[in-house]
Amino acid sequence: MAQPDEKLRALNSEQTPLGTGPRESLYCTKVGATRPDEMVIVSAHMDGIGYGEAANDDGSGTALVMELARVFNAPGVATERSIRFILWNNEESGLNGAHAYVAQRKDLQGIDSPKGSGLYPEPKWLAVIQHDMLLFDDGMPVPKLDAAGKPVLDARGQPVYTAPSAQRAEADVNIEFQVNSKQTDASAKLAWALRAANEKYATDYPVAVGNRMTNTDSVPFMDHAPAVSVRESERGMQIGAGWNPHWHQPTDVYATYSDKDFLLGLNAAQTTLAAVAQLTGARGKP
Ligand SMILES: [Zn+2]
Repeated sequence: MAQPDEKLRALNSEQTPLGTGPRESLYCTKVGATRPDEMVIVSAHMDGIGYGEAANDDGSGTALVMELARVFNAPGVATERSIRFILWNNEESGLNGAHAYVAQRKDLQGIDSPKGSGLYPEPKWLAVIQHDMLLFDDGMPVPKLDAAGKPVLDARGQPVYTAPSAQRAEADVNIEFQVNSKQTDASAKLAWALRAANEKYATDYPVAVGNRMTNTDSVPFMDHAPAVSVRESERGMQIGAGWNPHWHQPTDVYATYSDKDFLLGLNAAQTTLAAVAQLTGARGKP
């Protein structure tokens, strides 16, 4: 009941209550012209825990995946390798959709079926690029001030912290890989490829690379394929320490975000679009 708007509550209601029935994830695939047996996965999660629209977590990521699917599907655009666009379900309940996908499909990679058909139900995973929260980078909480400009103190005499009121000047797109995985070197290389694509093709914001990818659907892939997450901030150090006051809150609705926030999201889209175009050998004009 934290979300007073009944329409938003209905929008955020679960496909089936947890544990009572199946839930679907969704994917579509652009088949590569010359290497249909290899693919890049571009993904985000459909489910939300915002008690409202979950506009940022993770409407922003799903919007990016669908926009890239639209661009790569344009007439006249071909790629040498395949691209699979995936919208996961049940990320918030424990990365269940991505874990299931990895368990069911990791051993099917690169196998043509039926044999000799040239059809590859599960092309080899060249890269997994997960998008989860792309809009909000206002920085660390700051001391709350009273009308006289003095810090507000709590009952123990400690300063009360509150969110800054605008996007920080150092706003950036954070690309993280996991240093503690079996694919660390290849994942780091993928992260730097995204950063190079950002430097050349993104219009407004830089990329920062980090090595602590956590709490999102690329994690189940990290021992099996090069895997990174794309976010507004680092999940462990920054979002986990209170950088986003709308995270999993009823305020995670479209109207919360500013033009600058959406521009940051656009730069994440430009970054992944350019990197995936290079990784898959794209040609033609959308
Ligand atoms: Zn999320």
